[in-house]
Amino acid sequence: MNTTKKCPACQKEVDAKATKCPYCQSDMRNWIRKHPIGSLILVLLVVPFFVSQIIAEPTPEQTPAQQIAGVKYQSARILAKSYIEKVPLKSPSTAKYNPPTTKVDPTNPNLFEVSSYIDSQNGFGAMIRTYWSMKLEYIGGEDNQESVETDANWKVVEFIFDGEKIK
Ligand SMILES: [Zn+2]
Repeated sequence: MNTTKKCPACQKEVDAKATKCPYCQSDMRNWIRKHPIGSLILVLLVVPFFVSQIIAEPTPEQTPAQQIAGVKYQSARILAKSYIEKVPLKSPSTAKYNPPTTKVDPTNPNLFEVSSYIDSQNGFGAMIRTYWSMKLEYIGGEDNQESVETDANWKVVEFIFDGEKIK
């Protein structure tokens, strides 16, 4: 067992547990013990940094094809919403449009099914729930953002509103 250590100031052998050199009186505590406030501040600054690095989600690297797929998905959703909001209701001021569920067709990346429901009052003031679903197909051909965001490049393939097949 090593029970002595060398004083860094005067190089004399002193007790391993000594905090002060008995020969030259130099402070032999380590940096953390010498600077408790400084150490605390360092911990408070450094620990949150590392925690945030661990928690931070990695930036997803999207391929151009994935980006266009995302634009199509959003466009189908926005378009369906704009169609639905034009459907006349008995009491439009009471209508609550619930956020739609959007699904891409597993065999056709240009075909989307958007569905949701509307809560609104009927002619007698009772709240009723109306389900709707819409299939929209991107027929633009070109896979670029401008083309995908053009309404004319989309076609309503099927539209079911309140159990009725409108298209
Ligand atoms: Zn010393």
